[in-house]
Amino acid sequence: MGKNVGAGSLGLWTHKLKSVEVISNYYSTYYSGPAVKMGAGVVGEDALPVVSKAGLRIVSGSCPTVGLVGGFAQGGGHSSLTSTYGMGADQALEWEVVLANGTLTTATPSKNQDLYWALSGGGPGTYGVVVSLTVRAFKDGAVAVGSLSFSADANESNDTLWAGVEAWLSNIPALVDGGATAIGILSPTSFSVSPLVLPDRDEANMRDLIAPVTTKLDILGLEYSFNVTTFPTFMDFYNIYFIPPEWQLIDRISGGRFVPRPVLQNSTAEFVSVLRDLTETTDAMIALVGVGSSIQDAIAPNAVAPQWREANMNVLAQLQWQYNQPWDFNLAQIDEINNVIIPKLEAVTPGAGSYLNEANFANPTWKEDFYGGNYDKLRKIKKAYDPDDLFYGPTIVGSDAWNVASDGRLCRA
Ligand SMILES: Cc1cc2nc3c(=O)[nH]c(=O)nc-3n(C[C@H](O)[C@H](O)[C@H](O)COP(=O)(O)OP(=O)(O)OC[C@H]3O[C@@H](n4cnc5c(N)ncnc54)[C@H](O)[C@@H]3O)c2cc1C
Repeated sequence: MGKNVGAGSLGLWTHKLKSVEVISNYYSTYYSGPAVKMGAGVVGEDALPVVSKAGLRIVSGSCPTVGLVGGFAQGGGHSSLTSTYGMGADQALEWEVVLANGTLTTATPSKNQDLYWALSGGGPGTYGVVVSLTVRAFKDGAVAVGSLSFSADANESNDTLWAGVEAWLSNIPALVDGGATAIGILSPTSFSVSPLVLPDRDEANMRDLIAPVTTKLDILGLEYSFNVTTFPTFMDFYNIYFIPPEWQLIDRISGGRFVPRPVLQNSTAEFVSVLRDLTETTDAMIALVGVGSSIQDAIAPNAVAPQWREANMNVLAQLQWQYNQPWDFNLAQIDEINNVIIPKLEAVTPGAGSYLNEANFANPTWKEDFYGGNYDKLRKIKKAYDPDDLFYGPTIVGSDAWNVASDGRLCRA
């Protein structure tokens, strides 16, 4: 997104603020129970082992290098646990934050409520410098984890493969309602889902949940592989699936689109034909993240984009950033995402918006896509807490008041 760097800017290095404190009995009028207080530099792989040792789990990014206090919780934050517990921002109990005027304060559902609302999902790097975040924690336990894959072999037409993908997509609302989250990857000739995560359930529950899909695959005569493992704790699962190096960094340019629940229920065939077209006509890697959250999951009202609550899926389209190519080559790739790929997805998901953390800085419709109906309220809160726009980043709330000149300086728009 290009938000954490800027020519001539002052950057704050948070990587040494690594404290992770387990609070066994956090008490407030809005939540009582286990919680975890994390310093600004804490990433998933710092927090999860400490939390797991205490017999707990928290909502964190899939990849171990995602900053939980920074972009993740401030930008929304989806996790393998989201369909059960909600978004990263939904877990926020208390933000400790340095304001633009230098004051250290806290924002909770009962103190500096407007700031709490904005920090919890209204976009990172916008309202203040967060020093720590306290989040709700949950009792740990078993996690059922599945993987499903099928491909078109020489004897099957690609139509059968795509009918299988359609069966998978039609079942996403039930899957998300059942508390599961799934990452699927498409190619022109195959589809694989891994991991499919179902917290606090076992193999039998997982098989029940995807029975409508496997039954359809059997009817189609599409050969598939489906495996389920039950891990004793969330950390046991996480160590196997997300700690390996391929999850540490992603050098890709992203675009994305939410898929509202009614599209998966009523327009699956149209959606599938767009996905098929994209995999057959572009080089983009298409990921389908089945995930759902509701405002009822949240500790208190927050600024997670309303579009997140309508969605049961986040589609990601990614192209590799080419370091050995000139800047213009990569700009052309961003252009392909924004002006070829996303409009095709948009045609089947009108008004659905996209996730502000998994997108790119050149999205021409970022205001409505990333913030939806929250934008004007967020703009007022930004003006109240940061009247001189000390905090700037492309596509953050209020950034349209500035242009970046060719030498990197910010000029009033
Ligand atoms: C490998 C990888 C995997 C990912 N997986 C997921 C996932 O599973 N779920 C998900 O929701 N997202 C995921 N993302 C997207 C992720 O949420 C964003 O990249 C997010 O911005 C990361 O936040 P960060 O603080 O680590 O990054 P940074 O680039 O350091 O910061 C991002 C923004 O947050 C601001 N910021 C950082 N710290 C603070 C602070 N203390 N106070 C105020 N502002 C701050 C920065 O200024 C910047 O604007 C993934 C990204 C990558 C690269």
